[in-house]
Amino acid sequence: MRLVLFLLTTFSLISQAQNIYPQDYFGDPLEVPLILSGTFAELRSNHFHSGLDIKTQQREGLRVLASAEGFVSRIKISHYGYGKALYITHPNGYTTVYAHLQKFAPEIEAYIKKRQYEAESYEIELFPSANELKLNKGEHVAYSGNTGGSGGPHLHFEIRNKEEHPLNPMLFGINVADTTKPTIKSIYAYALNDSSSVNNSTEKQKIRLIPLASGDYNTENIEAYGVIGIGVETNDRQNLAANSNGVYQIQSFLNGNQNFEINFQSFSFNETRNINQLIDYEHYTTTKHRIQKLFNHNNILSLYNPEFYNGNLVVKDSTNSIYKIRVVDFENNDAWVTINIKGNKTSTKKTEEKTPYYIYANQSTNLKSGNVAVHFYPNTFYEDFYMDFNVQNDTLTLHDDIMPTKNNFNINFNVSHFNDEDKDKLFVSRLVGRNKNYPLYTSTRREGDTLIASTKYLGSYTLTADTVKPSITPKNFRDEQWISNYRFLKVKIDDSGSGISNYRATINGKWILMEYDYKTKTLTFDFNDHISTETKNNFKLIVTDNVGNSSTFESVFYRKK
Ligand SMILES: [Zn+2]
Repeated sequence: MRLVLFLLTTFSLISQAQNIYPQDYFGDPLEVPLILSGTFAELRSNHFHSGLDIKTQQREGLRVLASAEGFVSRIKISHYGYGKALYITHPNGYTTVYAHLQKFAPEIEAYIKKRQYEAESYEIELFPSANELKLNKGEHVAYSGNTGGSGGPHLHFEIRNKEEHPLNPMLFGINVADTTKPTIKSIYAYALNDSSSVNNSTEKQKIRLIPLASGDYNTENIEAYGVIGIGVETNDRQNLAANSNGVYQIQSFLNGNQNFEINFQSFSFNETRNINQLIDYEHYTTTKHRIQKLFNHNNILSLYNPEFYNGNLVVKDSTNSIYKIRVVDFENNDAWVTINIKGNKTSTKKTEEKTPYYIYANQSTNLKSGNVAVHFYPNTFYEDFYMDFNVQNDTLTLHDDIMPTKNNFNINFNVSHFNDEDKDKLFVSRLVGRNKNYPLYTSTRREGDTLIASTKYLGSYTLTADTVKPSITPKNFRDEQWISNYRFLKVKIDDSGSGISNYRATINGKWILMEYDYKTKTLTFDFNDHISTETKNNFKLIVTDNVGNSSTFESVFYRKK
């Protein structure tokens, strides 16, 4: 019995995984070689990446195939996020997701268009029943694209379990050649309490890396005292592409004893925003580099191995320790970093900048000054801290975007001192850019004389007026033109102030489906929708911005019957 237990516990995570997850069930969703521009749980802005990003040869329109038999269980089309997305539920309980699609295979496309026309909306979410759109493994379901928040043509592919938790598709035998070790980009050391120090400082220290021929690393020796933590900036690339992708596992060891482990196998969407607690958030918002902290005060991610999640190092005076980091990719290539730490007590003391506004993370806080009030519910933040809070005229300085938030909070601006016409044109903006002078629209609603903005970011906020109507410019036609041979009608829409809120287009009074791509600011109508059989046609488009300014565009075009 003892021997059996020993054998069981020495199996690696990967071989355990292969016992749990079906290995030959899911096939490739594309007919081109699997080359990745993104791996599972890769670190992204406010979230872990929930699938694989598969490269599509820099183009759209590749056939997307059902990864296994099943039925279309959900279709979601949105301007942002996943764009056009298809969900297939399989008999074994897993669901596969295909996102940023250009369009769907004909039968599915017709199913969706019918419902878009009924709802008079491009954005739509549908949940077909199990007998409506059944699929065989390998059946053509869609064409790859670049819709929604996609920064270039690719297919986003996910596998989710019954609880809707995304899982690393590589656990199901979807393998990508990778014979090189992960790369370590940088190492940082942090003094974690008032009396601790690293290299005589209480500030975060960048530790010089010494790359070895083996692909492993040493670092310069460090002197430290008290409770400290180490952070690593790392990525991995596969054989067939230069893309810097995410790694699969990170472990650390102090004098041979493991003290931290994170595994990128699965997570829940509920916890994905906690990525901001895994990374050094201030470093990220100020440099755009993501340091993963290999220490943690509150075990809030299921990605941590619960046996080893603390990672804090206690360095005593006049000691010598060896700290090692092991970074592993899915193919089990591993890169090691070795850091020698010498215990050396110093008299450096952390001095925290104090303000009158101390935030207790587990309590609610109300701040008010002049026309501005801010309300934080309990657990908006991960830790207690002194907050900067200042209001001058109608500009709020609310600390800086260097503390991550767990939950959104509200900022209220009283606008009773504006006259009624002006009130209608105001929105709350976050001041961004290098000089904090670019007003970015923040989702704002109005209740009487109060504008209420919901946000996840600390920073500077002000009231901005948008008095300019959206612009509407035809892209491929002009008024009174014959366009018999045209497949598409394209219009550019833009709004420089608060941004586009909605649009509505008709031909001869009938609603038409125009697909909106915010990246190219283009609305596209497909004449194959066969809305009009008339020769002379009246096209009308109304576009409204986020404070309610609206523009109307009308044009006549002719088509042969
Ligand atoms: Zn993706």
